[in-house]
Amino acid sequence: MSRQDGFVLALSGGVGGAKLALGLSRVLPADALTIVANTGDDFEHLGLAISPDLDTLLYTLSGQDNPELGWGRRGETWNFMAALEALGGDTWFRLGDGDLATHVERTRRLRAGESLSAISDDFRRRLGIAARLLPMSDDKVRTRLRTEEGWLDFQDYFVRLRCAPVICELAFVGSETARPLPDFIAALADPLLSAVVICPSNPFISIDPILAVPGIRAALRDCPAPVVAVSPIIGGKAVKGPTAKMMGELGMPVDAATVAHHYCDFLDLYIADEEDAAAVECLDVPVVLARTLMQSLADREELARTVLAAAARVRK
Ligand code: GDP
Repeated sequence: MSRQDGFVLALSGGVGGAKLALGLSRVLPADALTIVANTGDDFEHLGLAISPDLDTLLYTLSGQDNPELGWGRRGETWNFMAALEALGGDTWFRLGDGDLATHVERTRRLRAGESLSAISDDFRRRLGIAARLLPMSDDKVRTRLRTEEGWLDFQDYFVRLRCAPVICELAFVGSETARPLPDFIAALADPLLSAVVICPSNPFISIDPILAVPGIRAALRDCPAPVVAVSPIIGGKAVKGPTAKMMGELGMPVDAATVAHHYCDFLDLYIADEEDAAAVECLDVPVVLARTLMQSLADREELARTVLAAAARVRK
């Protein structure tokens, strides 16, 4: 399959989404994958523009991700952090030396007037990534969470407070006026689009910010290709991170069915884990059960093949 034969659009957050995005990138031809990243986690820190999900995708797809930490770059060194700490600087958000280069260069180019999408496209080419990597928008969207401690910025909640506060509400500040990236909207209406894959990312903080950009939900509903979501819940639990905790706090049942309900207005097919067969039994949307835990590279490729094969069987 080359792009003329169809291409796949994947929506992704950070670590969980990037695992499947890597699998897709390895089983699809070079020009047949476009990945749209959440930028609701983006923030400015120490004067730098940081885009955590774009960076996780850049590092994962270029083989530079750090498997020990689960974030940041492989073989990272920490001289900058140590020097900053000695000066009494803010160290709650850990920036490795190599990672720092990404943020410094992105910030410089943003200040020089380039768009986040142009910079991300150049970074992915320089890192040897064949798949296209797009931010959902070049406009700022910032996730905030209302917690029992009041409203918090995303990274305050996620990194500084380690997701401990109980959440009651989420807001995607700036989303009302954000314009979807033109290539993103165009891809959703492209007759060559063969599937949209919602990666197993946190629905509330990784996928909802993308869906909050005006026009995206409607474009997904009207999309000519099947929209397939992969569950980030396995055996009623999140593999990592606060997805299950958030479901409970938002008053939703903590199970794989909740994710499918969350996407019900545009979802054509749901890939749930074999362990969750009972939880997804009564869903209105068609379900394919699979082994969805991606531990090895082979697991990532296998799940990618399963998703693509299942999507190819959907008749819209
Ligand atoms: P973040 O932005 O770095 O928090 O990452 P994402 O939102 O993209 O991914 C977080 C979600 O990925 C969590 O809900 C995890 O349960 C899910 N996840 C992580 N690894 C796996 C996996 O191997 N399989 C599945 N199905 N979900 C996973």
